[in-house]
Amino acid sequence: MVATVMVVEDEPKLRQLLRSYLEREGLAVYTTGSGAEALDIGRRRSLDLVVLDLRLPDLPGEEVARELRATSDVPIVMLTAKSEEHERIAGLELGADDYITKPFSPRELVLRVQAVLRRGRVVADRTVPASYGGGELVIDEECRRVVVRGQPVELTPTEWGILTALARAPGRVFSRYELINEVRGYEFDGYERTVNTHVKNLRHKLELDPAKPRLVETVLGVGYRLGVARDR
Ligand code: CA
Repeated sequence: MVATVMVVEDEPKLRQLLRSYLEREGLAVYTTGSGAEALDIGRRRSLDLVVLDLRLPDLPGEEVARELRATSDVPIVMLTAKSEEHERIAGLELGADDYITKPFSPRELVLRVQAVLRRGRVVADRTVPASYGGGELVIDEECRRVVVRGQPVELTPTEWGILTALARAPGRVFSRYELINEVRGYEFDGYERTVNTHVKNLRHKLELDPAKPRLVETVLGVGYRLGVARDR
């Protein structure tokens, strides 16, 4: 199946360059320079990934991300200005799965896109849903589904990657470095804050009280661990 990517970038040259690189990888590509049009395409088309420039002429990229996120958990890779760390953090808080700072090489972007698409794929090495904490948390890797206290929860690909990594060894502490390698396959500047931000988002979706997390626990100075044991 051909994956479909939407590139939202208002610089025509860069937009065209990204299109040709992504098409060369066999991906179907929609492009637009407008946030409003991006939302329109997002409503009408089934997308596997969105590459989103944060600075668009008509709408802030943050707003485009928020609106896309309101109706789908499509992976988003943000394009941000190098100097603007707050932009990256804002993007990640909106549930972006990755960001890349300008200027970047198109080859690098293609690698990121492929990594995010791979993460979204089903890993069918475990067919039975695993249950944790007396059934409080159920992770079905085959169906890529998470149920918390009986309620299905939608996770972004990065949140899914972090949770399933922790769940493979409940109680074991994973460093932020390990987690970022687990979900991205590489390390980059600012990965610690990135992991922290995704964990914060994950807790808001999973924890009864995100201020007192029980499922995804912090181990000060080390990292994170799944705070409940696997059932059975
Ligand atoms: Ca721009």
